[in-house]
Amino acid sequence: MCGIVGYIGAQQAAPILLDGLSKLEYRGYDSAGICVYSAKGFQIEKTKGRLAALRTATADGASMTGTIGIGHTRWATHGAPSHENSHPHLSANGKICLVHNGIIENYLILKEFLLAQGKTFCSETDTEVAANLLEYYYELEGDLLRAVRRTTEKLCGSYALGILCADRPDSMIAVKKDSPLIFGFGEGENFIASDVPAILRYTRKVVYLNDGDMVEFTANGATFYNALGEQVSKTPEHITWEMSAAEKGGFPHFMLKEIHEQPKALRDTISPRVKNGRVVLDDIKLTPEYLRGIRRIYIVACGSAYYVGCLGKYILEKTCRIPVEPILASEFRYSEPVLGDDSLVIIISQSGETADTLAALREANTLGARTLAIVNVVGSAISKAAHDVIYTWAGPEIAVATTKAYSTQLSVLYLLALYIGDALGTLSAEEYNAMLHALVALPEQLTQVLSEENLAHIEALAQEYKSHHDVFFIGRNLDSATCLEGSLKLKEIAYVHSEAYAAGELKHGPISLIEDDTLVVAVATVPALFEKTMSNVKEVKARGANVLGLTTVDFADEIAKTVDRPLLVPRTHPLLQPSLNVVPLQLLSYYVALARGCDVDKPRNLAKSVTVE
Ligand code: GLU
Repeated sequence: MCGIVGYIGAQQAAPILLDGLSKLEYRGYDSAGICVYSAKGFQIEKTKGRLAALRTATADGASMTGTIGIGHTRWATHGAPSHENSHPHLSANGKICLVHNGIIENYLILKEFLLAQGKTFCSETDTEVAANLLEYYYELEGDLLRAVRRTTEKLCGSYALGILCADRPDSMIAVKKDSPLIFGFGEGENFIASDVPAILRYTRKVVYLNDGDMVEFTANGATFYNALGEQVSKTPEHITWEMSAAEKGGFPHFMLKEIHEQPKALRDTISPRVKNGRVVLDDIKLTPEYLRGIRRIYIVACGSAYYVGCLGKYILEKTCRIPVEPILASEFRYSEPVLGDDSLVIIISQSGETADTLAALREANTLGARTLAIVNVVGSAISKAAHDVIYTWAGPEIAVATTKAYSTQLSVLYLLALYIGDALGTLSAEEYNAMLHALVALPEQLTQVLSEENLAHIEALAQEYKSHHDVFFIGRNLDSATCLEGSLKLKEIAYVHSEAYAAGELKHGPISLIEDDTLVVAVATVPALFEKTMSNVKEVKARGANVLGLTTVDFADEIAKTVDRPLLVPRTHPLLQPSLNVVPLQLLSYYVALARGCDVDKPRNLAKSVTVE
C-alpha cells in the first residue's frame, strides 16, 4: 500500500511525479503529496483524498518548478488522513524532506528522545520521527549518507524512504526494508518508485532494491550500497511487459479487464510448465526424496489467497494423500505452529509484499520447514525469502479486488498437485492424464464463461439483486471454498453484507437469519453432492429465500426444478471446476457494485498490497 515516486533529471519534476503516483493509485491511499526542490527551496503541496485534488491544487504540476522531487500517496497508519499527516514531511529545521512507506514501530520512544533534543513535530505520523531523527544524526555527523545509515539502524519496522536534503540539492537518497522500492535508470534522469508502472513510461531499466539497500543518485549516476554499507554494483533488469498491460485497454474498469484477462493469464501460467504431456516445474527444487518425506502441508496466506488455500486442501489431499491445512498468515505466525523438515509451507501472495504473509514465511523458515512461495511479482520480498518460488504469470493486477491473480494461484496449485501426486505415485496415470488434459483446456473454457451472452445474463441478475443487503453463499466440498471467495468479492467491492457457509452447516445456526426474499447463492457443481446441496436449498426456500443456483450445464434441468434463477458454467474435471465457478461470482459482484454506484477498482478502506500487520 502507499506509493512513492522520486525524480531527478532535466524535466519539470511535478508532472512526472503526479503521473507516476497515478500509476500507483491501485495500491490504495487516502491522501497524496509532492515536494519539488528549486533555488527557492522546498515547495510542498499535499491534499487529503484522491490524486485529482492534488492535480487541481498544483494546476497539474505547473505551479511547482524544479527538476528534482518526491511524491507520495499515503495509506494512513499513524494519524488520520489529513493535510498535516500527509507526506512529504520536513524535518524541524526544514533541511530534510522525505516520503515514507511502511511503519516505524518504535516511533514513540524515538519521538520522546527527539522532543527532549528540542525537535518539534507538526504531525501525528511515525514518518516525521524518521525525518527528525535524520536531521539529528546529520547535525551530529555532518555527513548525510552516514546519518541515513545511523537513522535506519535505529528504526524498527518497515520502511521505503525517499530523502531530499537542502544541502545536497542535486541528489536524492533512497533506502528500504520490508517495503518495496525500485530504482529506474533513465538517460540524464533517474527515478525511484514503489512499483514499475510508475516509471515505465520513462524507463525499462529497473533495479529491485533488497532490504537494507541504499542508493544515492543524481540525474547522471547512482551509487548503490548493501545492508553492510558496502558499495555494490547492480545490474538492471529489463522490463518486457507493455504499459498497456497496466492500463485499462478499453474496459471501463481494471477489474473487468482483469476478469477478461483470466484465460490468457491461465494460459501464460500453465503452458510453459507442461511439456510433452507432463508437468515440468523447473522453477523449484523439490526432489521426489524430499516429497516422500513430507508429512503435512500448510498453505499460508491472507484474503482471497487464503481462499485459494482452502481449495488447495481439497485438491492436494485428494491428489497427494498428505494432510493439508490452510491457515491465515496473521494467525499462523503467532500460533506456535508445529513445523519441521517434514512440513512443506506453501505461501501465497499476489504482491509478494503482504506483511502478515512475509512474517509467517520467515517464521516457517526459522522453524525449519521448507517454504514454497506462489507470487505474482518478480523480485518481491516473499519471492526472495522463500526456498522455492513458482510465479503466477498474471501480469500486473491493478484492481484492488483480485481476480486474475486468484485464478492463476489456483492454477499453480493444480500444477503442484499433479507434480507431487506424480512424484509420490498417488495419482494413477489415467487420473494424471485426465486432470492435465482438463487443465490445459481450462483457458478455452473460461473464454466460454466470459461470452457476451453470459455477461448480459449476469448483469441482469445483478440488477435484480442490487438492493439485497444480506446474502448467503452455500456449497459443499470444493464449492464451499468457492463460496468464501464469492462472498468476499461481494463484501469488498459492492459493500453488501454476505456470509459463506458450508451448505450442511446452515441448519446448525445461520438458517435463523433466512427471511422472506433473503438472497442465497447456492453453488452446486460437485456431482456426487448435487442432491445434498439441493436439499439444503429446499430448506432455505421453505423459509422464504430467493435462490440463485450455480451449477454445470449437465445439471441445467435438475437445478431449474429447485432454484429461482440458474447460472450455468461448462463442466470440467471435478477438481478443476472451481476455476470456472469463481468467474460468474466475480462478475456478479462486479455488476452489483456497478449497479450500487461503488468505486469498483478502489473500494473504500481497502489497499491492494497490505504491507502492514
Ligand atoms: N506510517 C506512515 C504514515 O502513517 C506511512 C504510511 C504509508 O505507508 O502510506 O504516515
